[in-house]
Amino acid sequence: MKLRKPLFAALAAVIGAGTLLSSNLALAQKDWPTRSIQLVVPFAAGGPTDSIARLIAVPMGQALGQTVVVENVPGAGGTIASTKVSRAAPDGYTIYIHHMGMATAQALYEKLPYDPMTSFEYIGQVADVPMVLLGKKDLPANNFKELEAYIKANGAKVTMANAGPGAVSQLCGLLFQSRLGVKLTNVPYKGTGPALTDLLGGQVDLLCDQTTQTIPYIKDGRVKAYGTTTMKRLPAIPNVPTLNEQGLKGFEVKVWHGVYAPKGTPQPILDKINAALKKALNSPDVKKRLEDSNIDIVSMDKVSAKGLKSHLETEINVWGPVIRKANIPD
Ligand code: ASP
Repeated sequence: MKLRKPLFAALAAVIGAGTLLSSNLALAQKDWPTRSIQLVVPFAAGGPTDSIARLIAVPMGQALGQTVVVENVPGAGGTIASTKVSRAAPDGYTIYIHHMGMATAQALYEKLPYDPMTSFEYIGQVADVPMVLLGKKDLPANNFKELEAYIKANGAKVTMANAGPGAVSQLCGLLFQSRLGVKLTNVPYKGTGPALTDLLGGQVDLLCDQTTQTIPYIKDGRVKAYGTTTMKRLPAIPNVPTLNEQGLKGFEVKVWHGVYAPKGTPQPILDKINAALKKALNSPDVKKRLEDSNIDIVSMDKVSAKGLKSHLETEINVWGPVIRKANIPD
């Protein structure tokens, strides 16, 4: 009996603290955001993912009344950033943009420290970006047929840049090698921003990259474009044939993007982020800049948790078998 009172008092204190904690939490959610928000990008600055992130960060920040700061966390094809975000505080101050690497990494790595289907909250899809197979300006091959012959003659002497296992440049490059039945020397970078710089400088021979940065260089002849990864030619570069029409039947890689938050981020905060993302994607400036790079903003029903999560699940199921069949080595 002696213990009852202190026990009761302790319980009351715990319950009181709990109530205080939950009302503080409710207040924090209601007032969110009271400081800047970090938008994590899993690749180097100056690349395609970074560009889309920076493009949406400004209007999202305006919609939320706080700055959205881009933080580049490159390495291991995006899996370092995914791991970091999966362990970040779920308070709305960390959000994450990643592309289809979120779906392909599982098939490329033996074990991931996070689970794409359970370690995150889903905010919405963003945009779909086509890719182009590029070569350095002074590569002797002037078209895809000549490139095939050049690769067959030179094999592993030909170098191909990528942004690591989990990056779409790696996926595209290795699917390409698997279809040709060759193994080139693959050179990993922290993003295709630095990889493109080296392609322009002539330090690497080939790179499969998104259209985000590449169209001006293709147009002014500073890189060679051998084919797009789309079923139809791209309006911005109509003279570049698709890989599909040049013999690589069905070669299609459309790089979709999604915005995520750490698991457990409160729903009212997720709703606010989702509304800000929609607003950003509807801004005429963002629309125009994405259109100029042949990037398609997704329909607004896909800018939702349900739209992103179900697409991610579909893509895990699509790419897993393709990657395993292609026996992608590195
Ligand atoms: N999207 C990556 C980047 O921004 C590259 C990649 O996935 O290939 O660098």
